[in-house]
Amino acid sequence: MDIHEYQAKEVLSNFGVAIPQGALAYSPEQAAYRAREMGGDKWIVKAQVHAGGRGKAGGVKLCSSDSEILEATNNMFGQRLVTHQTGPEGKGIYRVYVEAAVPIDREIYLGLVLDRSSQRVMIVASSEGGMEIEEISESRPDSIVRSTVEPAVGLQDFQAREIAFALGVEPALTQQMVRTLQGCYRAFTELDATMVEINPLVVTGDNRVLALDAKMTFDDNALFRHPNIAELRDKSQEDPRESRASDRGLSYVGLDGNIGCIVNGAGLAMATMDTIKLAGGEPANFLDIGGGATPERVAKAFRLVTSDTNVQAILVNIFAGINRCDWVAEGVVQALRENPVEVPVVVRLAGTNVEEGQKILAQSGLPLIRATTLNEAAERVVAAWNSDLDQNTKMRAV
Ligand code: ADP
Ligand code: MG
Repeated sequence: MDIHEYQAKEVLSNFGVAIPQGALAYSPEQAAYRAREMGGDKWIVKAQVHAGGRGKAGGVKLCSSDSEILEATNNMFGQRLVTHQTGPEGKGIYRVYVEAAVPIDREIYLGLVLDRSSQRVMIVASSEGGMEIEEISESRPDSIVRSTVEPAVGLQDFQAREIAFALGVEPALTQQMVRTLQGCYRAFTELDATMVEINPLVVTGDNRVLALDAKMTFDDNALFRHPNIAELRDKSQEDPRESRASDRGLSYVGLDGNIGCIVNGAGLAMATMDTIKLAGGEPANFLDIGGGATPERVAKAFRLVTSDTNVQAILVNIFAGINRCDWVAEGVVQALRENPVEVPVVVRLAGTNVEEGQKILAQSGLPLIRATTLNEAAERVVAAWNSDLDQNTKMRAV
């Protein structure tokens, strides 16, 4: 789960990371009021969306009066901000953060990620802040400092000092750097984050080390341990298809193709997507309905998959190990009787009680296309989608 910049800043500041003064606003008037309340004569108004690259996309504006704040925020609220991280549909702006503008001496990149090969938290830093890390690794790979943390002892002060030296931070600021690094590391581990990124971390003209931007991502499977973090979820920033799925306990990732997939088990769901592509189709989604695959879950999965208007054919691929194919078949039949779908549906069942399952599908009278192997299923769903397309084109031609 992602959170907003202003939320990440609040979380990190509770762990000792220094941030500029700032306040949240839900309207242009409130933004101007927040700036007056804060005092000063220059403010940065920042669109709160779950994506980076806002500066280049017009989502970060420097303002020096009430009227400038009103104008900048009027152009933000209700709009969708398109950055290189959002995809062409962008993300809706419903909140803005008003921050005191700080004089920047230098910008540093700081990120904490889980490094899977060493199975440790890795700190990635660069003296070339402000740019995205992908850009830095292209143009200035030599400026990147990497340091993995030994979990048994946690981040040691000497290790944090080494990072500060490697970045060329002035000795007088080392203590502030150590405090920032320690704060990020503790927030990362104590809150089950999967990513913390401060870009830029700046040294100000008056020698303070401040986080000017902040991004945090959390492990969804650990959110139950952190109700305060779980509360920060903002569904307006999520793909509505994915929000609906996670509310129903299904694991769904929306994609751009038109063949909907309903599968039990993440590995099988991946294999199903691959096989569809091999057969010349494009999957519309990843969907793991879990091991249970009860009729209710199958019905929910159908509703979810068909709510994507791009879906023009559906492949149901169930392997019944603990489950039973006859139950799953009943689930499919029940789901389709209650909510008939208008696109071709291919069902492939394998495992326990597969014959009974096939019989239930065959006797249902529903226009289901059956398949035995995964290859066959993928070929049939792609063929069904193609012929459906032909029919539509023919209809349009008439
Ligand atoms: P994004 O990464 O989404 O573009 P940032 O929060 O990093 O958004 O802001 C973009 C740039 O705006 C920063 O790199 C920094 O140069 C400038 N900036 C952001 N906040 C402030 C601030 N409070 N004072 C001065 N400059 C800022
Ligand atoms: Mg940034």
